[in-house]
Amino acid sequence: MVVGPAQVLCALAQAVQCRQLNLRVKKVISGAEVLEPQDKLLLQQVFANVGEVYQATEGFLAASCQYGTLHLNEEFIYVEPQWLDEERFVPLITDFSRITQPIVRYRLDDILVMRQQPRRCGQVTMALERIEGGCDDQLALPARDSGVQRVFADLCQRVIANALPAVADYRFIQRGNQLQLLGDCDLSVLENCRRQLIDLFQKHNIAVEKYTGRYSQRLFCRNLMPSVAVLYEYPSKSAPLS
Ligand SMILES: [Zn+2]
Repeated sequence: MVVGPAQVLCALAQAVQCRQLNLRVKKVISGAEVLEPQDKLLLQQVFANVGEVYQATEGFLAASCQYGTLHLNEEFIYVEPQWLDEERFVPLITDFSRITQPIVRYRLDDILVMRQQPRRCGQVTMALERIEGGCDDQLALPARDSGVQRVFADLCQRVIANALPAVADYRFIQRGNQLQLLGDCDLSVLENCRRQLIDLFQKHNIAVEKYTGRYSQRLFCRNLMPSVAVLYEYPSKSAPLS
């Protein structure tokens, strides 16, 4: 059995696929960071049994059942969902088993997505579709009606994962008025990905046309740093978004 962060498990899976590594494991368990859908798929292609744990300083919060569905450990913690929409929530947790360092109605900095489908395993604890990441893992972009539109990480992730090669690492960063897309791939591929992200933003009522200001792109040496494309910057006079 191998337990590790998703990125490490994926690197192992790729090494197994390339026949650089021979691993005979019954199960791999991903923890410590978000297991993205495309990474989960890769792990399932290579390893017979893929599990997931969701553990933080605040406790052991969720683990996958025999069908691979992540369940909250509601036997030990009381979870009060603070709903963001019909399926996404930020958990407030209260731990009944601790005798030191009490955790009482503690708000975690994570967005969880409830699983709608019925559970085959019969466990009554809440099933999760996925852990979407920290509350900060979302973009706050200018909307057409001059408000701020939030875009959750999973939407961007899907676009990026489809546009880039499966093994390419990437980063998508918002710093105030600037969005930056970095990918370990050719610039033409990254440029295509950028266009698809713009399409996504347009569908979500983001004032792409209004704010497209300077556009620049730079290419760094690939083996030193991933290629870089600056997606767009809003005019510096406009108030920074938060
Ligand atoms: Zn289950």
